[in-house]
Amino acid sequence: MSVRVRFAPSPTGFLHIGGARTALFNWLYARHVGGVFVLRIEDTDAARNTQQAVDVILDGLRWLGLDWDEGPITADATGPCKGQCGPYFQSQRKDLYQRRVEALLSHGLAYEQDGAVKFKMTREPVVIEDIVVGQVIRPLTDREETDPDFVIVRSDGEPVFHLVNVIDDLDMGITHVIRGEDHLSNTAKHIALFRAFGVEPPKYAHIPLILNGDGSKMSKRDAGASLMTYPEEGYLPEAVLNYLCLLGWSSKDNQEVFSLAEVVERFDLPQVLRHNAKFDPKREKLNWLNFEHMRRLDSERFNELTVHALSTAGIDTSSHPLPFVKAALATGRDKLRNLSEAPGYLGFYFRDAVETDLAEAPKLMIPENKPRLVRLRAAFASAAGFDAATLETTLKAIAVELGLKAGPLVHPVRVALTGKGSGPSLYHLMEVLGRERTLARLDAVIARL
Ligand code: GLU
Repeated sequence: MSVRVRFAPSPTGFLHIGGARTALFNWLYARHVGGVFVLRIEDTDAARNTQQAVDVILDGLRWLGLDWDEGPITADATGPCKGQCGPYFQSQRKDLYQRRVEALLSHGLAYEQDGAVKFKMTREPVVIEDIVVGQVIRPLTDREETDPDFVIVRSDGEPVFHLVNVIDDLDMGITHVIRGEDHLSNTAKHIALFRAFGVEPPKYAHIPLILNGDGSKMSKRDAGASLMTYPEEGYLPEAVLNYLCLLGWSSKDNQEVFSLAEVVERFDLPQVLRHNAKFDPKREKLNWLNFEHMRRLDSERFNELTVHALSTAGIDTSSHPLPFVKAALATGRDKLRNLSEAPGYLGFYFRDAVETDLAEAPKLMIPENKPRLVRLRAAFASAAGFDAATLETTLKAIAVELGLKAGPLVHPVRVALTGKGSGPSLYHLMEVLGRERTLARLDAVIARL
C-alpha cells in the first residue's frame, strides 16, 4: 500500500508555526517512504474563505519548500506537480459531500432533525491506535451518553468539519492522518464515520502541541507564532525547517543540525516525541541553527539571499560590477548570523557616501586623527599593491613610524571607510573597495577634520 498523507489547513489568514510543523511532518513522512503529499484547503467556512487567507498558506509552504504532489488544476492530474498544481479546495467538492450524506441517510446511518442532518454515532467507546500517542479509548462524556449523535449538515445546508474531513480523507485515499493533538478529541467521531461509509479508517498520528516557554498553549498573538515573521526577520527556510523538526522529533543520535535531505532520510513517525514541544521565545536555538545554516549555504545561494536582503533595505547592488559584488559579499561569509544583518554589515560597500554611526562619529572627528589619516592616506596611495597583506604591512609600518599601536589607526580608518565600529576584516574590506574608493573615503573625512 503506498502512503498518502495530507496537510489540511483551514484558511484563517494566518499560518501558525504549529500548522507549518504539521505540514512538515506530513511532507517528511511522504518523502521518507516515497509516498504522496496532498494539500487540501478546508475552506467550507465561507466567511473566512478569501484568496488572501489561502495565499498565506501557499506562500508559507513555498517559502519552506514543502511541495505538494497533486491537485485538480493541472493538465496531468495524476503526475507529480511539484507544488505547481492544486491544491484541493473543499469548497469545490460540495457535490461529493451531498452524495455521501444521501448514502448515509438512505442506509439509516443518519437522520434529519430540525432541518439539520445528524449522524448516528456508535454507543460503544471507540479505540484509537495512535502511532504517536499510543492506544486511546475515549469514554463517552455525560452529554454523549444521553445523545452521542452529532450534526453533520447544519440546518443552513453547510456540511460540518467532521463530515467533510472524513469524506475527503476517504476519497483521497489518505493512509495516514498526521495532525495536531488538538484533533485527538475528534478522532472517535471520524473513525465512526469511516466505518459508516464501510471502510477502515486511516492510521492516526497526533503530534503533541507546541507550547510557550511557560507551558501555556501557543496562540495566534504570541510572538513568533506566525510562520511569515521568520522570512521577514531574515531567517533562512533551512533553519526554520530544522527548528520545526526538532520541535517534536529527534534523531536517534541526537544530531541537531540537519539539512532537509538528511531529515527525510531519518524521519519516521514512531520517533515523534510524545511530550509537548516548548517554543523558545528568546530564539536561542533558532538563532544558533540559523548561523549554522548560513555557514552551510553554497556561495551562489548565499549571494542571492544576501543581495535580496540588501535590496529590501534599499541598497542596490545591481549597478556595481559583479566581481566587486561577489568579493564584497564574500567578506560576510561566516560572519552573518542572519540575513537581516546584511545591510548593516555589508551596506557600506555599495553606498556612495559613508553613513557614520552616531556612536562612532565623535571618536572619528578628533584632531589627532587628522595627521594620522593624512599619513596613512599617503602610504596607501603609494603602496606597491592593494591586497590585504600589503595593506596590513603598510598600516603596521606607519604605526611604528608614529610610535603607536595598530589599534588607534585601524579604528579611525575603519570608521572612515565603513561608518561602523565593527565589520569585515579591515585589510580585506580595503582590498575589496580598491585604492580609488578607499582614498576618496579617507579624503572626505580628512576634509572635515
Ligand atoms: N482543517 C483542520 C485544521 O485546520 C484539519 C484537521 C485535520 O488535519 O484533520 O485544523
